[in-house]
Amino acid sequence: MQHFALLTNHRIAYNTASFFFATETYKIVKFISELLKLACHFPLAIVVLKGIDYICANNICKLKITKMKADKIIKNAKIYTADKNNLQATALVVKDGKFVYVGDEAGLSAFEGEVTDLGGKFIMPGIIDSHVHVTTSIGFAYMDPGEYIACSSKKEALDFMAGEIKKNPGLKRYRFILERKYLNGDDIVKEDLDAICPDAELLILEGEGHSVWVNSKILDRHGITDDTPDRVPELSYYVRKNGHVTGNAFESSGWHMLFDDLTVTDEQIDAELMRWIDYSVKTGVTAVFDAGFPEGEELHERIYKRLRELDKQGKLPVYIDGSIALTNPKKMREVVENVKRYQREMNTEHLNVHTFKVFMDGTLRIETAAQVTPYVDTNKKGATTFNKEEVAEVMKLLNEEGLDFHAHTVGEASSRAVLDGVELARKELGDEFRVRVTCAHLEIQDDADIDRFAKLGVTANYTPWWHSGCTGGNPYEIWRSLLGEKRANKMYRSKTMWKTGANVTFSSDNIVYGDFKTWNPFLGMEIGMTRFVNEKSNAPEIARVVAEYPSPNEKMSIEEMIQGYTINGAKQLGIEACKGSIEAGKDADFLVFDNDLLTAQHTGFSYNKPSEVYICGKKMN
Ligand SMILES: [Zn+2]
Repeated sequence: MQHFALLTNHRIAYNTASFFFATETYKIVKFISELLKLACHFPLAIVVLKGIDYICANNICKLKITKMKADKIIKNAKIYTADKNNLQATALVVKDGKFVYVGDEAGLSAFEGEVTDLGGKFIMPGIIDSHVHVTTSIGFAYMDPGEYIACSSKKEALDFMAGEIKKNPGLKRYRFILERKYLNGDDIVKEDLDAICPDAELLILEGEGHSVWVNSKILDRHGITDDTPDRVPELSYYVRKNGHVTGNAFESSGWHMLFDDLTVTDEQIDAELMRWIDYSVKTGVTAVFDAGFPEGEELHERIYKRLRELDKQGKLPVYIDGSIALTNPKKMREVVENVKRYQREMNTEHLNVHTFKVFMDGTLRIETAAQVTPYVDTNKKGATTFNKEEVAEVMKLLNEEGLDFHAHTVGEASSRAVLDGVELARKELGDEFRVRVTCAHLEIQDDADIDRFAKLGVTANYTPWWHSGCTGGNPYEIWRSLLGEKRANKMYRSKTMWKTGANVTFSSDNIVYGDFKTWNPFLGMEIGMTRFVNEKSNAPEIARVVAEYPSPNEKMSIEEMIQGYTINGAKQLGIEACKGSIEAGKDADFLVFDNDLLTAQHTGFSYNKPSEVYICGKKMN
């Protein structure tokens, strides 16, 4: 440790200097900064230190400053800090896992240690993915979703399944994946499935993951009859024909059937978690928001216990902001109590649970996303899990408990219900309102609500790799048929939202680990900037689209993408005091690239990858 050394025998100076004596140089820098009422303004403090140094060198006062020993000194870099007060820098210094200096090279004279000349390489903060499903992905990793049915009609789908069942006799359950669009408006009912699979269970997961078709054996297993009430009519419900359930279940009414026969060992959980951690670290994702495991509470809790254990063993470098997901409005208080329990039992250095997550609505394709203006083909509007008064009640409860709120909001009416609820709660609580509120997905929003996010302090979270239309092929045609041309032209309005001054954050919203292609934040950045997935994109085949998605005015810049993936994400998670930007005093989470991301080609941007990743100052790759 290096200290100020006292060379004067003046008693008052001695007393002052003895404070300095036991203090590391960076603390002195901070102390002087505070004296200047400019806490954390290290460059200015260094100027003051240099002044003191000059005074000492010229014998004006016999106080000598020695340099602070740093763990890492980087110079000659192109640093995009994401710190609005100091966006670009060329040098940084790390000590004890924190940045202690960020600025130009002149400021480096206050530090000593090995200096790395990066030769102009690009540096940005560690990436924050503000909405993913760490635990759901474990469920999907060990739940074989079954054969994908490539077909063009209901008959072809049924024939394919019948053939597969015949080829593999004696199984307890058969599983398939089917995209609803291939049914061309036709539907599958339990009688169809019973006919091809009378003796075993049969479950088909819809390609988007928001609905299932099951045969009578599975309905019986779960005790679902014509009298079973719907959880939230028009959102989470059993499709009925003439009062009889058809075996088609929407949203969370079907999710519990997906994992009901899943058995996973702790070793399997650890293996997948380690694979995900390894991927995240190599890709530069240093923090995430885990958006919960709907209808998978038991496995969710087991996985958090494994994460807690891995963190204790020093194997969890990625910071996970955790949550518990609510799908059934009747369980509101129970979920709040559980978030509090998780806080007490699960929280470690890198796992922090403080958020109540709610599925406010569903998805566009099955028209469970709640709308202000009805779907044009059916005139349906969908429904929300909570109305605005109920949202306000949830907010007040969370405020009391010191917890935060994160909502799945795809349609216009669901983000509106959250905004209205926040407005009501704010009216009542005034400055006491402390809940961090996030609306995620925001595929479509009503014009009247766009500027309310900034006004009400609600974070707008987008999943930019969906901004080519969220589905492969010609998504514009699909959305136009459901929403009409005018509204289809106004989807994924991240730039319009950005311009209102709202906190805009970005995420991948993945629920399956697989080959991690769609977890790649650089794919999100590419599509956020281009609104297109073409052959030059590092994207799954199934995501390719025929043309750029409108409107070109919604294309983001690279700087906006980086801010949304770093500092803004930190604000959403409530960790902006220690993460999200390259700033003195914050955790030294940063990425080094051989090429300059600010000037990189937008098409093919998804192939970018950091050459070096640092978390809390430690080189991870
Ligand atoms: Zn999600």
